[in-house]
This record gives sequence, structure tokens and C-alpha cells, in this order.
Amino acid sequence: MKIVRLGTGSWGVVDGPRVRITRGPQGARTGRSLPLSAVQLGVPAKPTKVVCVGRNYRAHAQEMGQAVPPEPGLFLKAPNALVSSGSTVPYPWFTQSLHFEGELAVVVGRRMRNVPESKALDYVLGYTCALDLTARDVQKTDLQWIRAKSADGLCPLGPWVETDLDPRDLRLRTFVNGQVRQDARTSAMVFSVPQLLSYISGFMTLERGDVVLTGTPEGVGELQPGDEVAVEIEGIGTLAVRIGPREEEPPSFPRG
Ligand code: MG
Repeated sequence: MKIVRLGTGSWGVVDGPRVRITRGPQGARTGRSLPLSAVQLGVPAKPTKVVCVGRNYRAHAQEMGQAVPPEPGLFLKAPNALVSSGSTVPYPWFTQSLHFEGELAVVVGRRMRNVPESKALDYVLGYTCALDLTARDVQKTDLQWIRAKSADGLCPLGPWVETDLDPRDLRLRTFVNGQVRQDARTSAMVFSVPQLLSYISGFMTLERGDVVLTGTPEGVGELQPGDEVAVEIEGIGTLAVRIGPREEEPPSFPRG
């Protein structure tokens, strides 16, 4: 089942060429439907937080000149960073090096705390595609990567949540202007989806709707204003956004 959220805030499920409107993300059908081709998609989750893992593919850690950590290296993206498939993301004014990172995203289906690895997938609603957009230059100076990872628009997510999927070995590709830039399989993750969920839930309650980004494979690189970026994951679909013009620097921004 593919769970969608519409730009209007309504939820639905994809049924062939139509979207059947439901009462909430896991609710009953209302009887109303719309053509899928006519709807504007919203972000298909309402997380209290987006938990991300860095360096979860060996070849990506290598291209960054870093080692694979002995346990998952986590950071957060704030919900303000979320945008839906089809959005235009303004090129942030504070960076000269905006990078794409295509990732498999996990959407939590019910509250989890201290869940063992063997039970972790029972708590998953489904999976979608994410772009962990990163201001690579300021990532080096941000104390906690708040600008670098959580500025408005830096977490495109969608197009929908696929509930019937085994996350262990899916092909993930990222395209920039139609050219393949990342092409890997989720089986190359250092820490698997159940390992990540169990690890995180060992110290942090994951709420229904929370999102976990599982890390990016090798091939990350810079984006320019006007670029079209797409993340395609086998069994889910394609998340596509456009990078908009460079934002103007706010005149009131304090100088150190
Ligand atoms: Mg990432």
C-alpha cells in the first residue's frame, strides 16, 4: 500500500491511477477519490524529529576520507526542513557547496522505546525516499550542523510511504539533471534498518510518524541553482525536487 499526503493536508492511499482519501495516515477510506495525476503531493509523514545516520555505507565514508564508526553516528534534521516531492528548494544563501545525498527513509508506525532488533520492523509503517541535502562547507564549522542539515527545505521526503516492502536489498539511485550520480543497494548499509531502529530506540522514544534516514551511498556531489534532483528506490518510486535560485542574504543577519 502506498500512503500519500496531499498538499491540502488530507491523507490517502494510491489505488491505480487514483488516490482514495482516508481519515488520517492509517485510517479508513472516506469514499472520496481524486486522480493521482491531478493531486499535489505533501510530505507523507508528520514527524516530531528526523533522525539521521552518517557514514552508513563504507564507500561513502571512504569518499569523505573518514572511517566507518563502530556504532551508528547519529544527527537530527528538524521538521522545518521537510518538503514534498515536486517542491522547489531555494539554494540557501549561506552556502557555496550544497550537496545531494539520496537515502532510504523509514517511517515509524507506532511508538517505540527499547525495541530489540528482532522486533524492530514490526514498528515500521513503511519506507520512502529522502534527500539529505547538506551545506557541505558550513558543515565543517557548524557546531551541531543546524544550518548545514536543518535549514528550511533541506529534507525533501516522498513521494509516498510504501508499507509492503523488505528494506534489506533495494536499488537506490540518485539522478541530477537525468544523469545517474549514486547507484547502490541498501544491502551495503553498515548498520541495517532493524539495527538502527533498535539502537536509536534504546535511548530515544521514536513516535508514530518519526522518520529515520539511513545514510547515503557513495557518489555525493554539488548542486547548482536550476538542477533537477531525483531519488529513485526500487519498490517505492521517485522523489523529485528542483533547486531554485540562490536566496538573498538577509540584511539583518548579524556579523561576528
Ligand atoms: Mg546523509
